[in-house]
Amino acid sequence: MLEMIGAHPYRGVTAAFATKHFKESVVAPAFATLEISVVVPEVDTDQLGTFTGEIHRVGTPKEVVLKKARLGIQASGLLYGIASEGSIGPDVVVPFVNSDIECMAWVDTARDIEIVEFHRSLDIFSARTIVSSKDSLDEFLKSADFPHHSLIARAENGRGEIYKGINSFERLESALKALFRDSPSVVIENDLRSHHSPSRQRNIAAVSEKLVSRLLRLCVKCETPGWGEVGYLYGLECRECRNIEERAVRGRVMGCAGCEYQVEMLNEKKFVEPAECGVCNP
Ligand SMILES: [Zn+2]
Ligand SMILES: [Zn+2]
Repeated sequence: MLEMIGAHPYRGVTAAFATKHFKESVVAPAFATLEISVVVPEVDTDQLGTFTGEIHRVGTPKEVVLKKARLGIQASGLLYGIASEGSIGPDVVVPFVNSDIECMAWVDTARDIEIVEFHRSLDIFSARTIVSSKDSLDEFLKSADFPHHSLIARAENGRGEIYKGINSFERLESALKALFRDSPSVVIENDLRSHHSPSRQRNIAAVSEKLVSRLLRLCVKCETPGWGEVGYLYGLECRECRNIEERAVRGRVMGCAGCEYQVEMLNEKKFVEPAECGVCNP
């Protein structure tokens, strides 16, 4: 592996990381393993939408991270750009819990390639409550992991200020005092910006490790970095009736970011069981 890093085309390069929320310290260790330095250029990433929702983001997370990475490249004049984006909300698989899907892009303008990785995690503090001035906050604060994780507080009726990055009981108290003057109820939730959320930081670190290990892999045909999964193969036969289940995953397609070379990798599983078959078990 060390020999591979020695020959790696990204060894010693510098990449622009467009971030407003001090995420560079979270991602730099992963990129350092490939000897890629990370610098933060002067970019107003909030023009792409803010995390707390005052400006709506336009496009999918993948489109947004690619745009952000290119903004960093433009602002810095560097050849390489990194950007990250998280979506936190109800999980698509596990009911009644939130998950954090972190997305991270690498853009290489020297080779004209774009690589995007995703990491889904249930390890995220994203509690939310609406309270009146008489309610006890003890249980909520525990579920929000406060003050280790910060909070945002705002009036439910939309009046007054939005208090962000609340990380002490004193600040929470003074924010609530001000908010209850204008509104009978107040919305309190975890501040999910990365520098206020250690659980989110762990997920951003994880997606950066995933991205870097992908950059480490070179295409065997053209030596472009970023060899990895580019899609799935579908369609498995039922063991019993030979019906082809079109939605069953048969394997993965590994591909190059720079050339057309691809390799199909079939799963161990060669058949679906009758219980998973639309004909045997309609
Ligand atoms: Zn290639
Ligand atoms: Zn069948």
